[in-house]
Amino acid sequence: MSDPSTGNDPILQRARAAVRALQPYQPGKPLAELERELGITEAVKLASNENPMGPSPAVRRAIATASAELNRYPDGNGFELKQALASRLGVQPGQITLGNGSNDVLELLGRVFVGPGDRGVVDAHSFVVYPLAITSSGGELVRVPSTSGYGHDLEAMAAAVDARTRILFIANPNNPTGTRVGRDAVVQLLAQVPEDVVVVLDEAYFEYVEAEDHPDGLQLLDAHPNLVVTRTFSKIHGLAGLRVGYAVSSPAIADLLNRLRQPFNVNSLAQAGALAALADDAYLNESRALNAAGLATLEQAFQARELDYIPSAGNFITVRVGDGDQVYQQLLQQGVIVRPISGYGLPEHLRVTVGTEAENSRFLAALDQVLGRTG
Ligand code: PMP
Repeated sequence: MSDPSTGNDPILQRARAAVRALQPYQPGKPLAELERELGITEAVKLASNENPMGPSPAVRRAIATASAELNRYPDGNGFELKQALASRLGVQPGQITLGNGSNDVLELLGRVFVGPGDRGVVDAHSFVVYPLAITSSGGELVRVPSTSGYGHDLEAMAAAVDARTRILFIANPNNPTGTRVGRDAVVQLLAQVPEDVVVVLDEAYFEYVEAEDHPDGLQLLDAHPNLVVTRTFSKIHGLAGLRVGYAVSSPAIADLLNRLRQPFNVNSLAQAGALAALADDAYLNESRALNAAGLATLEQAFQARELDYIPSAGNFITVRVGDGDQVYQQLLQQGVIVRPISGYGLPEHLRVTVGTEAENSRFLAALDQVLGRTG
């Protein structure tokens, strides 16, 4: 296929310049694809920060029941799911915007607030969907260097805001580095950023964090009408394949997002599944515990092998292996899919999702094989 940014076909020249300049999102390699390529059946995927437990049985039952109504359109307002979320989170249903994954609401935020010539501020190593959300609407990306520990430098990010800035994205914890910022730093940033600049606090991995000083963005909403908090059912709730996420904001911002949102962006099975997931505390707690144990295993293993890693607050960990792209390819040959992150400006690191005990061991054994070490 020709590259639309360089192709001469007249129709390609008609595409918006902002779109021709975009780098397509690179998802983790699907398991089935690697298994087809290698002719194997037991590949392991630790590449997309998915929950390794499989979906909760309660969710699967709810989806089976809801499938009897598949001839009907979904509830376009997601009434029941918003009610349940609102009571669970202590907010009003009118503050919630449901999305086809939280990606959907992140992109909507770009479309609502960013136009040609506007600026959006992000961290140098943060989630790739923010640059897409900013630049696809014709906005200009301002990347702020991270701290020496690969974390968001919130003071520098606040200082990067100027008269053209419309939006600023903070991932807490951040993907792919796993770093997080504390409550005081977030509160200070919100005090500094002008009230007509949207601050997005992406809390996709919020439920994994146990640190005392970790901010709950929802508690900051009342004092900051320019704050938008996003969360997802894809991570600790184990529903990445269903595609449900949401934003919590002022009702006025929710109203704007709803104007652009596709009327049926969250399908009926996804709404039923998310509703069941929200009630399943046992699954959530088990997921958190499994993740904490797996993270400890991986950290200890990296220490034993004298590999540098970035301490993580999420369900993944980023480790320095040398030539990340090359080690990624070699791990693929061992049937293990992780995530190379040279595209995030981290060419020497790999991001590894925390798996089950067996998957973590498989990864470590493959890594030893590739790096020519024994643990
Ligand atoms: N935010 C962050 C920081 C993420 O890592 C991800 C998933 N990779 C998302 C948002 C989007 O997830 P989803 O669309 O599945 O909710």
